[in-house]
Amino acid sequence: MFDKILIANRGEIALRVIRACREMGIRSVAVHSTADADAMHVRMADESVCIGPPPSPDSYLSIPSIISACEITGAQAIHPGYGFLSENARFVQIVEDHGLTFIGPSAEHIRMMGDKITAKETMKALGVPCVPGSEGGVPDVETARKLAGDMGYPVIVKATAGGGGRGMKLAKTADDLERAFQTARAEAKAAFGNDEVYIEKYLQKPRHIEIQVFGDGQGRAVHLGERDCSLQRRHQKVLEEAPGPAIDAETRARIGKICADAVARINYRGAGTIEFLYEDGEFYFIEMNTRLQVEHPVTEAIFGVDLVREQIRVAEGRPLSFDQDDLVLNGHAVEVRINAERLPNFAPCPGRITAYHAPGGLGVRMDSALYDGYSIPPYYDSLIGKLIVHGRDRGEALARLDRALGELIVDGIDTTAPLFRALLLEPDIQKGNYNIHWLERWLEAGPDL
Ligand code: ADP
Repeated sequence: MFDKILIANRGEIALRVIRACREMGIRSVAVHSTADADAMHVRMADESVCIGPPPSPDSYLSIPSIISACEITGAQAIHPGYGFLSENARFVQIVEDHGLTFIGPSAEHIRMMGDKITAKETMKALGVPCVPGSEGGVPDVETARKLAGDMGYPVIVKATAGGGGRGMKLAKTADDLERAFQTARAEAKAAFGNDEVYIEKYLQKPRHIEIQVFGDGQGRAVHLGERDCSLQRRHQKVLEEAPGPAIDAETRARIGKICADAVARINYRGAGTIEFLYEDGEFYFIEMNTRLQVEHPVTEAIFGVDLVREQIRVAEGRPLSFDQDDLVLNGHAVEVRINAERLPNFAPCPGRITAYHAPGGLGVRMDSALYDGYSIPPYYDSLIGKLIVHGRDRGEALARLDRALGELIVDGIDTTAPLFRALLLEPDIQKGNYNIHWLERWLEAGPDL
């Protein structure tokens, strides 16, 4: 059992992990950059260590500093949160070489899924349905042209090492292909230091449906249903809900079992998410995230489980505290991501919070590291809070979301909160009638935000 866990992250997710630690009687260590000396995660943890200057490569991504912080404080395990080092196999290896525990999957599984081509090949072999596309990397434009011609346009060129929606380019017709190929490559090289790309059939109107899985690392695994994350801007999720409005119980059980069986067969350990595009009743695997997702609270809400607690238990070598049969879906949950950004253009808007009031009441959860007088530093992600609502059904959850958004006060900066009140007025959103392109099209039409 762990006595002390270091959280190699910041913001709301660091708080999320600290909260789980406290409930389990485990001491927590926060790490922070000099820009985050006054951050909430530093205040809330039992101990804290400054690990470097503001830029992430010199602090939150600095492996030697994080390992030293563990050694100084005597932390036995590291929770990486999401982003930063959470999917860095080399980091996991170093953590383990120092006799520490990484709270997450093995380096081998992170590596396997971090390379999207290997991930696809592995999933295909495990019986998971995949998007039609190239077998492996595509070395040059000529090969790309041949493949795309056979597959039929439109196609999407994607970085093997991709993430965060970067290194992905659409070619609607053969005329666009060369440009898409070269830009995807250049973007991939710049963002990931690896310019390998592959090609997939571009699906025209899919939903983004992802399955939450959890493995004990010893061949047992369960699924916790799906999340619909189709509302995206620039391939980034904006609102997520569970269960998915387009998924029925039978479909959930079928795809859930395929996913749970797949991760059980590879002895996967910890939380994972298998992402699919879903079109005309068919699922197409796109990638697996080997970590806790930003949107995990909607799953926690409908299944009444604490996923971070389970991550810690499994890292300690204990079994999951539930079987598949224990997981009974209850009601409906929606999460909205509140970013420090100015509408309508989503320009980053860091600054000082002059007043903050979090919504509350039945079925409302606000995961945020904000407080009155806090200054949001300009160096990091613009996510400043997640508002999660839970209701007996989708209608109740949406009404609750509107009510909670009305209570939220964040003064001093602009946020994306008004976007969600506007979205709630849309009949398509009320009916759950949207796909991955809906939000971009709606924004292009110039709504009054
Ligand atoms: P990343 O790892 O960068 O997030 P993903 O492979 O998860 O990349 O894709 C992110 C988003 O891009 C998807 O949710 C979807 O909106 C879009 N996308 C990816 N692949 C395809 C495809 N083959 N057809 C249509 N849209 C796609």
